[in-house]
Amino acid sequence: MPNPPEASLRQAADLLRKARYGVALTGAGLSTPSGIPDFRSDEGLWRQVDPMEVASLWGFRTNPQAFYEWIRPLVRTIVEARPNPAHRALAEMERRGWIRVVITQNIDMLHQKAGSQHVLEVHGSISTMTCVDCGHRELSEAYLTPHALEGIDVPRCSQCGGVLKPDVVLFGENLPWAVWRAAEEAVEKADVLLVAGSSLEVYPVAELPYRAARRGAKVILVNLSPTPFDPYAHIVLRGDVAEVLPALLEG
Ligand code: NAD
Ligand code: ZN
Repeated sequence: MPNPPEASLRQAADLLRKARYGVALTGAGLSTPSGIPDFRSDEGLWRQVDPMEVASLWGFRTNPQAFYEWIRPLVRTIVEARPNPAHRALAEMERRGWIRVVITQNIDMLHQKAGSQHVLEVHGSISTMTCVDCGHRELSEAYLTPHALEGIDVPRCSQCGGVLKPDVVLFGENLPWAVWRAAEEAVEKADVLLVAGSSLEVYPVAELPYRAARRGAKVILVNLSPTPFDPYAHIVLRGDVAEVLPALLEG
């Protein structure tokens, strides 16, 4: 695993410690050390399927069975996953006041489990589901077990029998408006933005670092592989989030 140079780590830690309004932005890479595969790495979840087909609103509506077939193993993995040192480091940064809020693209709820208080789930989470027919909303609890969705074709609405869709943002769907607006506001206020474990290929979230940089914020990027934003980042820390984020707390 490549390790970022000490000097860059120290510089990044210094920026975070002195941040007036620090914000973190996280992606699927934050949860790979917890055993949840990301979407775009070699082992990623998208190797086997065409995401635009199965994980799109259109795909869900035309073939919810295929969607559940695909998401079933992911849900099981999420149910069994525990926060890793990267999640815990971000929770500690919030306690210390280095960051005020975590904006996450993840749907796995691991930031909250690690103790982060202010989490904006801009792609939703699997904690609730909504009926595509009558709009009734239900908790997913009953399905969030190690045997999640076993023997179930598609979960059905308790009110009308319609198909339930997890409240996660699929391709072709809008982001939850109020949460997205809060994320935009946080980025507008930020003087330091710590981006960790995101390929920055999914829009509109991928826009946020550009916006922050345009407003004069320092952007620190922690990722295993290069992203399109690397040339604009103030500091790029190439490495594993589970090592780099805890190291920042020591820096
Ligand atoms: P992505 O899969 O596009 O990118 C993940 C990035 O993280 C990659 O660039 C990869 O190199 C890097 N990475 C992986 N493991 C890492 C590690 N241990 N340390 C440092 N970097 C690491 O993920 P994205 O940018 O979040 O976009 C994918 C979409 O998929 C999002 O919309 C998200 O909602 C969804 N998703 C969520 C989960 C989850 O909730 N855990 C899992 C898979 C996908
Ligand atoms: Zn219904």
